[in-house]
Amino acid sequence: MAMETVPRELRGLRACLMCSLIKTSEQFEFDGCDNCEKFLRLKGNKENISSCTSSNYDGIISLISGDDSWVARWQKLDNMVPGCYAVSVTGKLPMHIIRELKARGIDHILRDRSQQL
Ligand SMILES: [Zn+2]
Repeated sequence: MAMETVPRELRGLRACLMCSLIKTSEQFEFDGCDNCEKFLRLKGNKENISSCTSSNYDGIISLISGDDSWVARWQKLDNMVPGCYAVSVTGKLPMHIIRELKARGIDHILRDRSQQL
């Protein structure tokens, strides 16, 4: 997404690299990620916010009722809280987080589709 086409007030938005939820950095700082907080620990942690979320994402999906939505299933968002989600998030979770997820047996969905297009 070219920066010039994004309204100024939306430029502070970031997308979670694990679930693709879009919020402002401040929201991530105050509340963490509504879906992945127990894994990513973003609340009050600027360092984790910058390594586990990305300002480089494409497309926005508004998720209201994940269970009824084929888009949600397609994007593997059906168990996520209602909110705005990116179609693709560019970036990778830090290795230690990916290792921790693997150790806990959690499937990490790759949200970066920029390489597959
Ligand atoms: Zn998340």
